[in-house]
Amino acid sequence: MKQLEYFLADEAATVAVGENLAKVLQGQYEQKLTQQSLVVFLNGDLGAGKTTLTRGFVRGMGHQGNVKSPTYTLVEPYELPPWQVYHFDLYRLGDPEELEYMGIRDYFADNCCCFIEWPEKGTGVLANADIIINIEYQNEQRLIDLQACSSRGEGVLLQLAQ
Ligand code: ADP
Ligand code: MG
Repeated sequence: MKQLEYFLADEAATVAVGENLAKVLQGQYEQKLTQQSLVVFLNGDLGAGKTTLTRGFVRGMGHQGNVKSPTYTLVEPYELPPWQVYHFDLYRLGDPEELEYMGIRDYFADNCCCFIEWPEKGTGVLANADIIINIEYQNEQRLIDLQACSSRGEGVLLQLAQ
């Protein structure tokens, strides 16, 4: 499974894609089928729904509080044992080198799930994506396309499609 495409009729449908991704990871963990780390790049214009999808994921992984956009802090960490979830928004990143100073490599360890908005701002410094998600406006609605870029990503999409 290399690619999936869905039509998202409303915000709740976008949240549900994030929640379903979390369910796949939780299920895999229970069966101990694969490593847990996952790197997801999120592409789409401002307001497309990147943060909305990530909110669904973070909540699905067990977080009960707010999920705010890390526009000024670049990254918001969530400790959700046995996972560490990192939500990046690199929109305001001036230079990818700033990520090196933040110790970005530690964020791509096992058990870490990284959801990264505006990944092109971190070119050369970020780990490779397992899944690239594109969200496009269709008037009030959205079209989402998920592409697997690794065998890890393919395994996740395969289960997401079930
Ligand atoms: P981004 O992080 O891509 O800039 P956000 O997730 O912060 O975007 O914001 C998406 C906005 O679009 C929210 O205000 C949300 O209510 C609205 N919206 C309308 N329809 C959808 C949809 N189908 N999916 C996601 N967001 C939607
Ligand atoms: Mg956002």
